[in-house]
Amino acid sequence: MPFGRVILVASLACALALALVAIRSSAQTTPPDDQGKPGTEAKLCFKCRRTGKIPCTLHKPEDDALFCSVYLNKPCCLGLGFTLCPKCKVDAAIEEWDELKKKRDAWLEARQKTDKETGETLVHLENAHFRFDMGLHEVSAKDQHLDMHKGAHLYLGRLEALWNLYSKVLDTTKESVTPKHDVYLFEKLDSFTRYMKKYVGEGGGGIAGHKTLGDQVSRFVTWRNPDLTPSDEDVHANLIHNSAHLLLHKYKGYKVHPPAWLDEGFAYYCEWTLCKATRTFCFVEVPPDSNWKNNEWKTHVYKSIGKKGNPSFGELSTKELNGMDYEDMAFSFTYVDFLIAKDKDLFRKFVDEIKAGKKTADALRDVYGWLPAEFDENWQKYVLRAYATK
Ligand SMILES: [Zn+2]
Ligand SMILES: [Zn+2]
Ligand SMILES: [Zn+2]
Ligand SMILES: [Zn+2]
Repeated sequence: MPFGRVILVASLACALALALVAIRSSAQTTPPDDQGKPGTEAKLCFKCRRTGKIPCTLHKPEDDALFCSVYLNKPCCLGLGFTLCPKCKVDAAIEEWDELKKKRDAWLEARQKTDKETGETLVHLENAHFRFDMGLHEVSAKDQHLDMHKGAHLYLGRLEALWNLYSKVLDTTKESVTPKHDVYLFEKLDSFTRYMKKYVGEGGGGIAGHKTLGDQVSRFVTWRNPDLTPSDEDVHANLIHNSAHLLLHKYKGYKVHPPAWLDEGFAYYCEWTLCKATRTFCFVEVPPDSNWKNNEWKTHVYKSIGKKGNPSFGELSTKELNGMDYEDMAFSFTYVDFLIAKDKDLFRKFVDEIKAGKKTADALRDVYGWLPAEFDENWQKYVLRAYATK
């Protein structure tokens, strides 16, 4: 064989081998596509661009929630944001899908358990701080009329606004996010009662709602009571007030419960700031009606300055919730309002001391350098200045 032909044969064999390698590797990474015609740029899949993932373009992701039971039941993509390309099997895409789907299924199963137990189908949401379970079929807020799903997101946003307020007032940088705060809002008394029986025990909870506060659980359960909370404003105020209790109890750990004046005062501070209302009451025993019940508290406290028989800080700050009346609630609200307005850093220190186990009078002396009577003097000056009506 002449030398030249050997080279030719060898290079032909080499080219064939290279072509085979090329086909093989293209079979691995470039799947066939109907749309591509032989001889053209056939191997690009227009649906998934060879990623194996087809993005769902029918909706945007929900920015305000980590999980939403409605979103996760979208038939287009089960809320995962993409589907798998039926033609291109890409392992990484399949793994990603399986993992997300597993997480989705587990979350839905856990959250929707209560639907079966209570007989009420809820919209379940979760963000960084709250899990919110919503039973109201519609929400009429100001001029908007929202369906259940949109209404649930509105309420989640309201709870998050509470978190933001709480973070501005207290130091939440080291707050644990577990357990998250659970808020259940049922449409019907029946579902509320069934939930209470299952998770809290017989006889647990008043008709207005129930809080469970502890190391492993931070939960408020309520329902739309047509007598107590008929309007959206009422429900909103109820959720903010009671969730504020959840936040303050969990703050710096559950070990020490805040004294009633601080606990209620803080809840009213949040309710007032976010809802312009002080209409939620946590009485153990409902006191007799008084003209403190429905009046605007800042004005009412302002007008009461100098009158005989007003509560003093020393006396009110040692009261238990059981035994407080409407007037006590109003004064507690203005005490907290005063301390926060005076100096947030000192208020933080003060709450930290209380949560570390100090009595109100001791924390007051150590942080502010005041005796209870000096608190009254300074508080009164604030009320006369800040609550003056024109
Ligand atoms: Zn494809
Ligand atoms: Zn949603
Ligand atoms: Zn989709
Ligand atoms: Zn309360």
